[in-house]
Amino acid sequence: MTSFSDLGLGQKLLDALDAVGYKEPTPIQAGAIPPALEGKDVLGIAQTGTGKTASFTLPLIERLSKGRAKARMPRSLILSPTRELAAQIADNFDNYAKNTKLTKVLLIGGVAFGPQEEILNKGADVVIATPGRLLDQFERGKVLLNGVQILVIDEADRMLDMGFIPDIERILKTLPARRQTLFFSATMPPEVKSLVDRFMNEPERVEVSKPASTATTISQLVARVKDKTPASKRDMLRRAIDRDGVKNGIIFCNRKRDVDTVARSLKKHGFSAAPIHGDLDQSTRTQTLADFKSDTLRFLVASDVAARGLDIPAVSHVFNYDVPHNADDYVHRIGRTGRAGLKGESVTIVAPGDERNLAAVEKMLGKSIDDADFGAGSPKKPAAEKPTRKSKPTVSTAKSKDTPSADFEPKVEATPATSAAATEPSPNNAPPSAKPAPAKKTASKASDRSAKRHDQSRRNDGDHDRFKGFGKDVPAFFNIGEN
Ligand code: AMP
Repeated sequence: MTSFSDLGLGQKLLDALDAVGYKEPTPIQAGAIPPALEGKDVLGIAQTGTGKTASFTLPLIERLSKGRAKARMPRSLILSPTRELAAQIADNFDNYAKNTKLTKVLLIGGVAFGPQEEILNKGADVVIATPGRLLDQFERGKVLLNGVQILVIDEADRMLDMGFIPDIERILKTLPARRQTLFFSATMPPEVKSLVDRFMNEPERVEVSKPASTATTISQLVARVKDKTPASKRDMLRRAIDRDGVKNGIIFCNRKRDVDTVARSLKKHGFSAAPIHGDLDQSTRTQTLADFKSDTLRFLVASDVAARGLDIPAVSHVFNYDVPHNADDYVHRIGRTGRAGLKGESVTIVAPGDERNLAAVEKMLGKSIDDADFGAGSPKKPAAEKPTRKSKPTVSTAKSKDTPSADFEPKVEATPATSAAATEPSPNNAPPSAKPAPAKKTASKASDRSAKRHDQSRRNDGDHDRFKGFGKDVPAFFNIGEN
């Protein structure tokens, strides 16, 4: 078993890790930290939930701990596609760097420029930024990038989906050629590979992937409604959430407008519920998430954007108001519950017309999902299609055919020096048990979208502070089925 001290991290970091309760490194950490500490470029193929944030933040802190910040000249830059992810990275940084004197500044849109400039003027060792706001501050002369020794690019494939690659290229060209680059992406479409080929120097490749599977601790159910009217679906939703054992939950809708309607309706019926989607301004989104994390808010009604990247701990239930259009999204969604070995339950409302989407989900899972019986309005599935297996809402589901025996058993390909350690799954690593592969997109489609969106994104970039809401932080999948 590898320990953090085997990886070459100093005592201050080991103490900080002890304080946050990490017992041993996750595979991506075991694979990426040693070469990163040596100053090598690292290409990490890993998704959110694998512990990848610490795999770049820890070596970055260790390497920067000698040396001091200069005004407006950060020594490292971490680029993230969305504000929420950037904020999460900043939280991670604060936890891990608390025994050091290192300082950071978070450069994201949707908030005032002034406080960011103040910190930049005092000197921040680490800039954590979304591309749009970084470029804005750069163009205003508030941040100089020629002192950057370590660059981190997180979620490069999402950057591509969101049309940020031209921004990233611009930023890369302003950085010193002699620097260390730590680059993370869940997938490697050609545009992302091209960035790696052009801007990285013989990177060590560390890959941690997880097959599309759902955690064995998640009970999955479908709740069938006789008709697909919103009223009937909302009625079923209320039955599903108003049961013993439903502590809290995320309710996913395919369409943004349904997110609002469902949240409003639940509130009207006396439930503690609030919507989260891209049309809400940044402060509302931040507050809603904070309320949900602190248990002030019981139900978060969300579009798929909330299923990616956001690290929301301990959700007892996930409800799919609609069967997702994309089977992968199902895994992403229900992966919000049953995390870190905790028991969770997902309930998917299935209306007439949803059969194809449900069949795609069941095909991917390699099994059919049990019917729940929440009372009126739940017809049983026709026997010819599937024998009805009425189940109690709390029963545990069988494993999917390709579900690994452990909740989190990633495939790891690491460099020889690290592979032995990297194959050791960490029981305490607390990633969500269902660590889904992002929606598969063909490279050409992604590239078209990227090109098309770029112009748009420069115009609609919330991080340029000319616009409200997600601006260009809206991931591609967010628009799927919005209308
Ligand atoms: P990330 O993939 O970086 O978003 O991390 C996913 C979750 O795993 C976060 O809640 C982290 O705090 C947690 N985490 C990261 N590394 C470890 C570790 N070595 N042990 C336990 N939890 C971890």
